[in-house]
Amino acid sequence: MEFDRLLREVLAELRGAGIPVSGNVEPHVQINTRAKKRYGSCVKRGKAFVIELSAFLSNADEKTVRTVLAHELLHTCPGCMNHGETWKRYAAVVRERFGYEVTRTADYRIFPESPPEPPKYLLRCENCGAVFARRKRSALVEHPGRYRCRCGGKLRRVL
Ligand SMILES: [Zn+2]
Ligand SMILES: [Zn+2]
Repeated sequence: MEFDRLLREVLAELRGAGIPVSGNVEPHVQINTRAKKRYGSCVKRGKAFVIELSAFLSNADEKTVRTVLAHELLHTCPGCMNHGETWKRYAAVVRERFGYEVTRTADYRIFPESPPEPPKYLLRCENCGAVFARRKRSALVEHPGRYRCRCGGKLRRVL
C-alpha cells in the first residue's frame, strides 16, 4: 500500500475540486502501529500538518485509504479542525465528486462487516513510503536489509 502516493493524489483531487486544503502538508504519512480503533488523524506540528494512518489500513483497499485521507486532509482547511459546518460542506463535495464516503468518523466503524486484519509485521520503504504488511515471519521480516522496495529504497521494519 503506497500511503504517500495516495496522499499526493487525494491532495491533488481536493485542490482540483476547489477545496482549500493547506499547502503545508507533510508529504510522508506517519504510521500509527498502536491505534486500533482510529484509522487516521491530522495533527499540526509547527506550521505543517501531519497525517497519520493506522497500520490496520495497510490491509485495506485503496478506496478506503483514500476516504480516510480525504477525511483527515479536510481538517487542514481553514476553520476545519473539528467536524463543524465548513468541514461538513467540504465532506459533501468530496462524496459527490469522488464517491469517497467521508463521514465524521474515520475509524473502525467504516468497516461495518469486515474490518481489515491487523498486520502482524509491517515494513516500510524509507524512500517512497510504501508499506508491506505480513502475517507471518519470513526472511523479509527477519532481514529487511537484504531486500529493496520496487523503487530501490531501503526497507525498515515498523511493526
Ligand atoms: Zn475528523
Ligand atoms: Zn519504495
